[in-house]
Amino acid sequence: MTSDPAPLRVDIHCHMGQIAKPCQEHDRFSFEPAGKPLSLDAYLSPRMNNSIGMRAAKWFFGLPRGLPPRETDAAMETTLLRHILNARLLDRAVVLAFDQYHTTDGQAVGARPNRSAIGTDLYLSNTYARSLWQRYPRRILFGASIHPYRRLGTMTAADMLAEVAAAGAVLVKWLPQTQNIDAQDPRTVAFLRQAAKLEIPLLVHFGPEYTLGHHHKQFADPAGMLQTLRQLRDDGDMPTVIIAHVATPSMWPIALATRPHRILIEALAGEFASAPLYADIAALAMFSKARWLKRTLRIPGVRAKLVHGSDFPIPSTPLFFRSALGKEYHRVRQMPSWLDRDVAIKSAAGVGEDVFRRGGELLASRIKAADALASIV
Ligand SMILES: [Zn+2]
Repeated sequence: MTSDPAPLRVDIHCHMGQIAKPCQEHDRFSFEPAGKPLSLDAYLSPRMNNSIGMRAAKWFFGLPRGLPPRETDAAMETTLLRHILNARLLDRAVVLAFDQYHTTDGQAVGARPNRSAIGTDLYLSNTYARSLWQRYPRRILFGASIHPYRRLGTMTAADMLAEVAAAGAVLVKWLPQTQNIDAQDPRTVAFLRQAAKLEIPLLVHFGPEYTLGHHHKQFADPAGMLQTLRQLRDDGDMPTVIIAHVATPSMWPIALATRPHRILIEALAGEFASAPLYADIAALAMFSKARWLKRTLRIPGVRAKLVHGSDFPIPSTPLFFRSALGKEYHRVRQMPSWLDRDVAIKSAAGVGEDVFRRGGELLASRIKAADALASIV
């Protein structure tokens, strides 16, 4: 008797960042032509690059100070990749592209100049994210990001989705409140129908967001997305949708904005129990969300909906799981890969093998297609 191999252990939620990475010349997606209008494959807004969080991150990662941007970028890429490539408790990690802010009429807005203005804080092209997978196809998977309002000539965002799906993408990431995505806009609905047709999952962030700009707080609430998914499900057109961070607020016990989390939990355990709606546990081992992880794991009917992700390079905090880690605490704290550390903490906190392998299960056909493209037998 033969049985299918167990699904891979996949971290479905990892980021990369670059201050100003010039466009690579070859192997570009048709909708990301080099230099027109964007000459960069990845950037951080000056506001983001100079933020306390970024300075702390550079210090944490031991990045040399005072280097010219290009050398800082090279050091940053090497350091982030070291954590991803050396993870021993995972089979693969999805590295996510991150599309720019778009206005409602579909215009891309570049780097955000200051706190009040609209614009983009983090950008990573699909071309660059795909190149990371192409360099390390046994460790990395390509997570795409396409704003549903994007258009290039006659090409719609749904056409762009078909292009990345055929080129090895395993999922598509959106952050609606930061990127300005209305889940009920007809372009968003058309994109989701295309995702269902192509069988490519969406990873969408609801709940408060603090690191990046959040110009459109009304899109932090998953109610609009649930309404759209209800319609698509009734039409037999619902794609797999994974909601990032179980839509949790950041601060505990002074948690504000708990409604997104509450209505998501109700949807997962109730109305969408048998529909392809899931939630990732990315960033839930960080000190500000630690208690949400413990709490979420205790909710009946939700565990079967959870998917492992880390939100790397957001750090997890072993100290907040000290009693759960027990004798393992010091060993886990010193693990060289932050992705491994996140797995070890969550495992001690009660996250089961089913959750660690659910990403591999949901992405199985996509990973198979990516492996075939990368000629991995
Ligand atoms: Zn994230």
